[in-house]
Amino acid sequence: MTLNDFKKRDCSGDYIFFDGEEKAENGWEAFQRVVKRTLKGELFVGLWVVLREMIRFDIHTLKYPSEKMQMGPRYRAIHKLLRLFESGNERCIGCGLCEKICIAQCIRMETRIDEKSRKEVSEYSINFGRCIFCGYCAEVCPELAIVHGIEYENASEQRAHFGLKEDMLTPLDTFRAKEQKEFSGFGALSDNADENVKQTPLAY
Ligand code: SF4
Ligand code: SF4
Repeated sequence: MTLNDFKKRDCSGDYIFFDGEEKAENGWEAFQRVVKRTLKGELFVGLWVVLREMIRFDIHTLKYPSEKMQMGPRYRAIHKLLRLFESGNERCIGCGLCEKICIAQCIRMETRIDEKSRKEVSEYSINFGRCIFCGYCAEVCPELAIVHGIEYENASEQRAHFGLKEDMLTPLDTFRAKEQKEFSGFGALSDNADENVKQTPLAY
């Protein structure tokens, strides 16, 4: 293919034009069309397909909401802020890397120095109207503090209802009930992460 062929945007020669059916002008013509279509057997084919699916026992439809879809470990849903497994403290150290790398510029955070002269994240929010769920923030976080959850049932009056720190941070009750899994979600470590660690050579 030459460059000129490549640049050619007019592909109308390849189109297949379909004239379609003539519109029914009145009720009698509409009735005739219904009868014609019915006698073609399409209706019965459709009915047979529905009946066949109804009596099948190996259907793959989930009985939602009693059954939930199993999401893959790399599914990127609404973010979660995790706590340290041992102490329950927030993992986030306020380094700001996630805020810097976010290509949609939708992460905002505020930090302050607490009474023990330690940096504390006072506010953390993600504008989910702008987030494109690329996962960069979760991948870059050095503390594995922010990950993507697998929650896909996000019904709310506003997207902003998911985006504040208190929405994303594991609640202490949940944490105490040991429902927060260590390193779960996209951006965290895989189960076999230890096998992939390469030891730093110490002898030169
Ligand atoms: S997933 Fe991507 S767009 Fe969304 S907050 Fe993280 S870095 Fe920004
Ligand atoms: S979530 Fe991670 S990358 Fe973002 S400020 Fe906290 S520690 Fe840093």
